[in-house]
Amino acid sequence: MTTITQKCGIGLQVRGLRKSYGGQEILHGLDFEVRPGEIFVLMGPSGSGKSVLLRHLIGLEVPDEGDIQLDSQPILAEDVMGKYRMAMVFQSGGLLNSLTVGENVGLYLSEHQLKTPAEIARIVAEKLEDVGLKGTEDKMPSELSGGMKKRAAIARALAIEPQLILYDEPTSELDPLSSVVIADEIVQLNQRIGVTSVIVSHDRDLSFGIADRVAVINEGRIVSIGTPEEIRRSPDPMVREFLAAGFKRPANP
Ligand code: ADP
Ligand code: MG
Repeated sequence: MTTITQKCGIGLQVRGLRKSYGGQEILHGLDFEVRPGEIFVLMGPSGSGKSVLLRHLIGLEVPDEGDIQLDSQPILAEDVMGKYRMAMVFQSGGLLNSLTVGENVGLYLSEHQLKTPAEIARIVAEKLEDVGLKGTEDKMPSELSGGMKKRAAIARALAIEPQLILYDEPTSELDPLSSVVIADEIVQLNQRIGVTSVIVSHDRDLSFGIADRVAVINEGRIVSIGTPEEIRRSPDPMVREFLAAGFKRPANP
C-alpha cells in the first residue's frame, strides 16, 4: 500500500477563462481557485461546460482568454506541465481492452520507460491494492464490472504518483452501491496521499458527500462557490432551483 507521509497536493488558480467553439462561447469568464490538497467538486447540469473546463485544467485545451496557473505558474508556460504530475480519470474510464488490467495501469510508466519491468510490476500491484483490486493484474478489462473498471482507471492515474487528479463524472454509469465505493475511494486517496482532487459531477449527493468545496456551474458560468453547507444555504435562485430539482442524468453521458 502506498505510504507517502508528505502531503503532495498542488493548488490551481483560474482567472477570466473564456472559450468558444465555432463562434459560440461555452465558458464565459471563469474565476476560481482550488486549494492544495482539497476535494473540489464542479457540479452542474449536463452541457454546462464541466468537461470543457476540466480539459483546460490539464492543458488539453487552450483558453481563448484568461489563464490557468498551477502553484502560481502559468500552466502553458514551458516546463510547467513537465514539472507537476497530473492525472485525469476520464468519464469512460478509457482502459484499453486489448491490454490486461496490469498493463493498463503500468502503461504510462512502460511507454515512457520510466522504470524497470520489475519496478513497474511492483507499482502496478501497489496501486491496484490501493483501489481494492489486489491481484487483478492478469484479468482483461472485459472481465471487470463497471465499478472495477473505474477503480482500475483510478489505479492507472495513481501510477504516476499525481499531485493533482481530475475526475470526470467518476460515478456515472455506476449502480448506487458502486458509486458509494468510488466516492469513498476518492476521499481515502485524498486523505492518505494528500492529492488535490478536482471532480466534475452532476451527482448532487456525491458532490455534497465528499467535497471540501463545491462550485456550481451553469451555462458556462460559476453561479455559486463554497462549502457544501454554504451552497445549501445559497440564496441564488439558480442554485435553489438546482437543489430542489436535483440534476437529471444526461441521456448521453
Ligand atoms: P458537460 O457539463 O456536460 O461536461 P461539456 O463541457 O461537455 O458539458 O460541453 C459544454 C458545451 O460545449 C456543449 O454544448 C458541447 O456541445 C460544447 N462542446 C464541448 N466540446 C466541444 C468541441 N470540441 N467543439 C464544439 N463544441 C463543444
Ligand atoms: Mg461532461
